Amino acid sequence: MMNLVGMSLEEMEEFIRSLGKERYRARQLFRWVYKKGASDFELMTDLSKSFREELSGIARIGSIREVRRLTSRDGSATKFLLELEDGERVESVLIRDEDRRTVCLSCQVGCPLGCKFCATGKMGFKRNLTAGEILEQLLHIRKVLWREGEEVTNVVFMGMGEPFLNYEQVMKAVRLIRHEMGIALGARRITLSTAGIVPGMERLSKEGVPIGLAISLNAADDATRTELMPINSRYPIKVLIKVAEGFSRIYKRRITFEYVLIYRVNDSPEHAHRLAEILKGIPCKVNLIPYNPIPDVPFERPPDERILKFQEVLLSRNYTATLRDSKGRDIQAACGQLRASTRGA
Ligand code: SF4
Repeated sequence: MMNLVGMSLEEMEEFIRSLGKERYRARQLFRWVYKKGASDFELMTDLSKSFREELSGIARIGSIREVRRLTSRDGSATKFLLELEDGERVESVLIRDEDRRTVCLSCQVGCPLGCKFCATGKMGFKRNLTAGEILEQLLHIRKVLWREGEEVTNVVFMGMGEPFLNYEQVMKAVRLIRHEMGIALGARRITLSTAGIVPGMERLSKEGVPIGLAISLNAADDATRTELMPINSRYPIKVLIKVAEGFSRIYKRRITFEYVLIYRVNDSPEHAHRLAEILKGIPCKVNLIPYNPIPDVPFERPPDERILKFQEVLLSRNYTATLRDSKGRDIQAACGQLRASTRGA
């Protein structure tokens, strides 16, 4: 059965043509699926009853199933465990921050990059998600928000997986998220987070899609970074920073550098100074994230005074350095903690 979620307008037009219907029907369908979030053909009252019946016999609108939902004690984050059609599971997170409602999407089941501090990396790689599966996460959470009278304001690709290792499907999802007849979120409200896949960053620089780029940096020297993130041996810091600089120039956007602070690994004032050096001249902001301990990983969160000292060094060197005390820590929805290996949970 054809899944309509994930289809572009052109694909829907093709589909409608194959049924011998008028072209404008595709636009109606597109709006129902993406703008109005209909999950049942019966709701599509501007389509004839017989057409609705025909559609329900050959197509469906998504298939993702919510397995579990956990909300943090302070209500700022809700983590969704979602099951895909083949039984694989991914996690997506809704983050409530003042008037922002940000949905954090997964783009792969697991992740092949194996960063040492990351729960997803520890579960290995299963498969890429399709654009439809990426969008289904968003449509599902948007519906939850709608019931609360709220709307999605931002989307980040920071869940499970590395977006640039699933480039085509992620970009197709981004185009659909931006589409004015559908979800209609502006490029400035979409951010893609990468571990530093240089070819992907270069490709995105040429797409003419000025979405935000966040780079998970986590160290200012190659030895430490390679230890934490093995991908660094392929795309070392110098190359990464150069491409980031080009990206920010082309799109006139600040780059966000994410930096997970790990006790006695990358959190000393010297590390902060080194970071300030390597980012010199790049329009950027640094997002500091104190490490959230996960089972079976020997890293620790630094004491608060070390965290604040690190931030102070960056501020004194005129960087914007925010401290993100991860929302949803108590439900393991914080950065690097998503892990859907909870079959049967
Ligand atoms: S931090 Fe990101 S890139 Fe690294 S293993 Fe985890 S999900 Fe993959």
